[in-house]
Amino acid sequence: MSTVFFVAADVTDSSQDTHSKLSALWRESGLASRFHPQDFAALKFHAGEPGTETFVRPAIVKSLVQLMASTQAVPFLTDTSVLYKSPRDNAIGHAKVVADHGFGPGAVGAPFVSADGLSGSDAEEVPIDGRHFQEVSIASAILHARSMLVLSHATGHLGTGFGGTLKNLGMGCCSKKGKLRQHHGQEPHVDTEKCTACSVCKDWCPTDSITVDDTATILPDTCIGCGECIAVCQDGAIAFDWTIAGPQLQERIVEHAAAIVRSKPERIGYVTVAQQITKNCDCLGVKEDPLVGDIGILASNDPVALDQAVLDLVQERAGQTLESLAWPQHDATHGLNYAQEMEIGTREYQLVEVKA
Ligand code: SF4
Ligand code: SF4
Repeated sequence: MSTVFFVAADVTDSSQDTHSKLSALWRESGLASRFHPQDFAALKFHAGEPGTETFVRPAIVKSLVQLMASTQAVPFLTDTSVLYKSPRDNAIGHAKVVADHGFGPGAVGAPFVSADGLSGSDAEEVPIDGRHFQEVSIASAILHARSMLVLSHATGHLGTGFGGTLKNLGMGCCSKKGKLRQHHGQEPHVDTEKCTACSVCKDWCPTDSITVDDTATILPDTCIGCGECIAVCQDGAIAFDWTIAGPQLQERIVEHAAAIVRSKPERIGYVTVAQQITKNCDCLGVKEDPLVGDIGILASNDPVALDQAVLDLVQERAGQTLESLAWPQHDATHGLNYAQEMEIGTREYQLVEVKA
């Protein structure tokens, strides 16, 4: 059984209160033991797509940088390039978003290094004994960082129901090639009865794979299965075949996550922020109201236990599962069960509440 540590925390907490709470969480969870003097230590985070306002606050990142540096490790912020149309689809635009959202080195105390290089191709193939893959493409800087803290924001997710630690690891730490492989063969379909031919999906699609005449049509040869069109269609006219896409994507994400976890035995820690939990992840780039009130911040050395604990706390708070609130087509426990099978953690945990 794993241990997950939890501190109640609200997005309105002052920077000082946030630091006190994270310091207590850091101390009680023993996260410091994951870092060693002179380690190049990655802090994997998500700076938020321009347009979203509910990404993890810079005060949290700043505090975690300080705590990592207190071990004499050398922390740097990192993330990978995205597949969709965005300033974050290359290292330069990504660094600008990082600074614009308050995560510049002067603000948080560590520089941002794009994990997969200038255009998302700096990566290495890592062998994995998965159901879907025998090797996965992991961003070089993440692979070569000596130790890592994975900072995740708990949200819903259109492709998996839940975006937490496993998603941040498996999708967020791989190259563009890895992301393409995860989505391969998952193009959605259009319900022509519901489609109003508004063209929003066409304008959003990163690969120009949608044409719109009387209704939208998706071109399967170029569609990369990213699902962005599903998230932006206000008429609910686009959908995956959820019974196939959801479980398959969860398993593919877990296989990438397993490669990263195995690359750093005893040298990865996890922190998840369960505040401003929105229907979509921070990639969508639109302002969203949270689905539930702020819960707190959790830490563990087990990514599976941590995700399970977040799901349990949301269910306890909301009286229903996060998936049922956000994307009821999904069951996020499918991925957690597969992660157990891949032996990167356990759903069995004890929750220890920490007081600042
Ligand atoms: S966004 Fe939805 S309603 Fe608009 S064209 Fe696309 S599928 Fe049709
Ligand atoms: S899933 Fe939708 S947005 Fe993504 S590439 Fe395919 S058609 Fe375009």
